[in-house]
Amino acid sequence: MSPALPFIDLKAQYAALKPRIDARIQAVLDHGQYIMGPEVKELEAALAAYTGAKHCITVSSGTEALLIALMALDLKPGDEVITTPFTFAATAEVIVLLGAKPVFVDIEPDTCNIDTRLIEAAITPRTRAIMPVSLYGQVCDMDEINAIAARHGHLPVIEDAAQSFGASYKGRKSCGLSTFGATSFFPSKPLGCYGDGGALFTDDDALAQAAREIRIHGQSQRYTHTRLGVGGRMDTLQCAIVLAKLERFDWEIAQRLALGQRYQQLLADLPVQRLAVRADRDCVWAQFTVFVERREALQQALQAAGVPTAVHYPKPLHMQPAYASYGQGQRFAVAEDAARRVMSLPMSPDLSETQQAMVLAALTQALRT
Ligand SMILES: *Cc1c(COP(=O)(O)O)cnc(C)c1O
Repeated sequence: MSPALPFIDLKAQYAALKPRIDARIQAVLDHGQYIMGPEVKELEAALAAYTGAKHCITVSSGTEALLIALMALDLKPGDEVITTPFTFAATAEVIVLLGAKPVFVDIEPDTCNIDTRLIEAAITPRTRAIMPVSLYGQVCDMDEINAIAARHGHLPVIEDAAQSFGASYKGRKSCGLSTFGATSFFPSKPLGCYGDGGALFTDDDALAQAAREIRIHGQSQRYTHTRLGVGGRMDTLQCAIVLAKLERFDWEIAQRLALGQRYQQLLADLPVQRLAVRADRDCVWAQFTVFVERREALQQALQAAGVPTAVHYPKPLHMQPAYASYGQGQRFAVAEDAARRVMSLPMSPDLSETQQAMVLAALTQALRT
């Protein structure tokens, strides 16, 4: 048996960037400004330029980015936010934490992103925002979502872009496409740090200011707490690490696109349904996900062949104990079917073609048995 492949190869990434990352970390240790040091502003400027958004506010995680966005929009108890049940729990968690109600809308069967045709029927007088999730690294149909939001009293739109940083949509970048874009630098995300981190993006000056204040306990000036806030800063060391990683990020995105395309081509001959990628955008494959039958048996056979897999996500949120009451007994048939069939294969920029061939050989074998 060959040695097991890594599901996501962070060691190879560090090895490639070691001199840059080590130097960046040492610079922070030398100046000692561990909180809100110069690397924080430097990273915010670099990420704003990258996404095309006017403002970038780094925060302590992707979850905190979503929470701070909703707080900046002044979400109140009883308000409703439209999102999908086929996402990581954080998306709905932040809505519930503020006493508001997630209103779930089903997904498209071929992309697993929110089905925009179902959004309008879910809008009520209490709707205060729409929160689409750019799942697996493919941006949702943001133009269509923004148009729906505009038709309904200019509802704010927050893109949960935790998995899609670096992805393109009609020539523009994820995070810079709506009222707020919120991303995560969790180590396994397309742009990861070495701990927790995240960022918020917006073109709106007032919302950016609100988010900056909320990030630091609602302070407009030191010890002047203008509003309710949180302890939501991203620390200087993590910003320094992301800055070093940005140096080969364009290469990494190109690798992700090329590896994803190669996977898709190689899978064409197998009895596996591929994720659809729309013609006007790309997918940066935060997870390389396919649809299969007999998933558990396949995963076991792949594991035995040294190929790790994962499931994003095995149970939609309306079927999770913490969120079941928000589904109000509704079925979300497409999300439920996806949860039963999705399986993610190893993916990271440093995956070699040899390793990819090994995944495909193991999958071909596993599908036969
Ligand atoms: C990872 C993720 C989050 C949360 O990000 P953290 O940095 O782990 O808090 C939110 N939404 C989605 C879709 C995610 O994948």
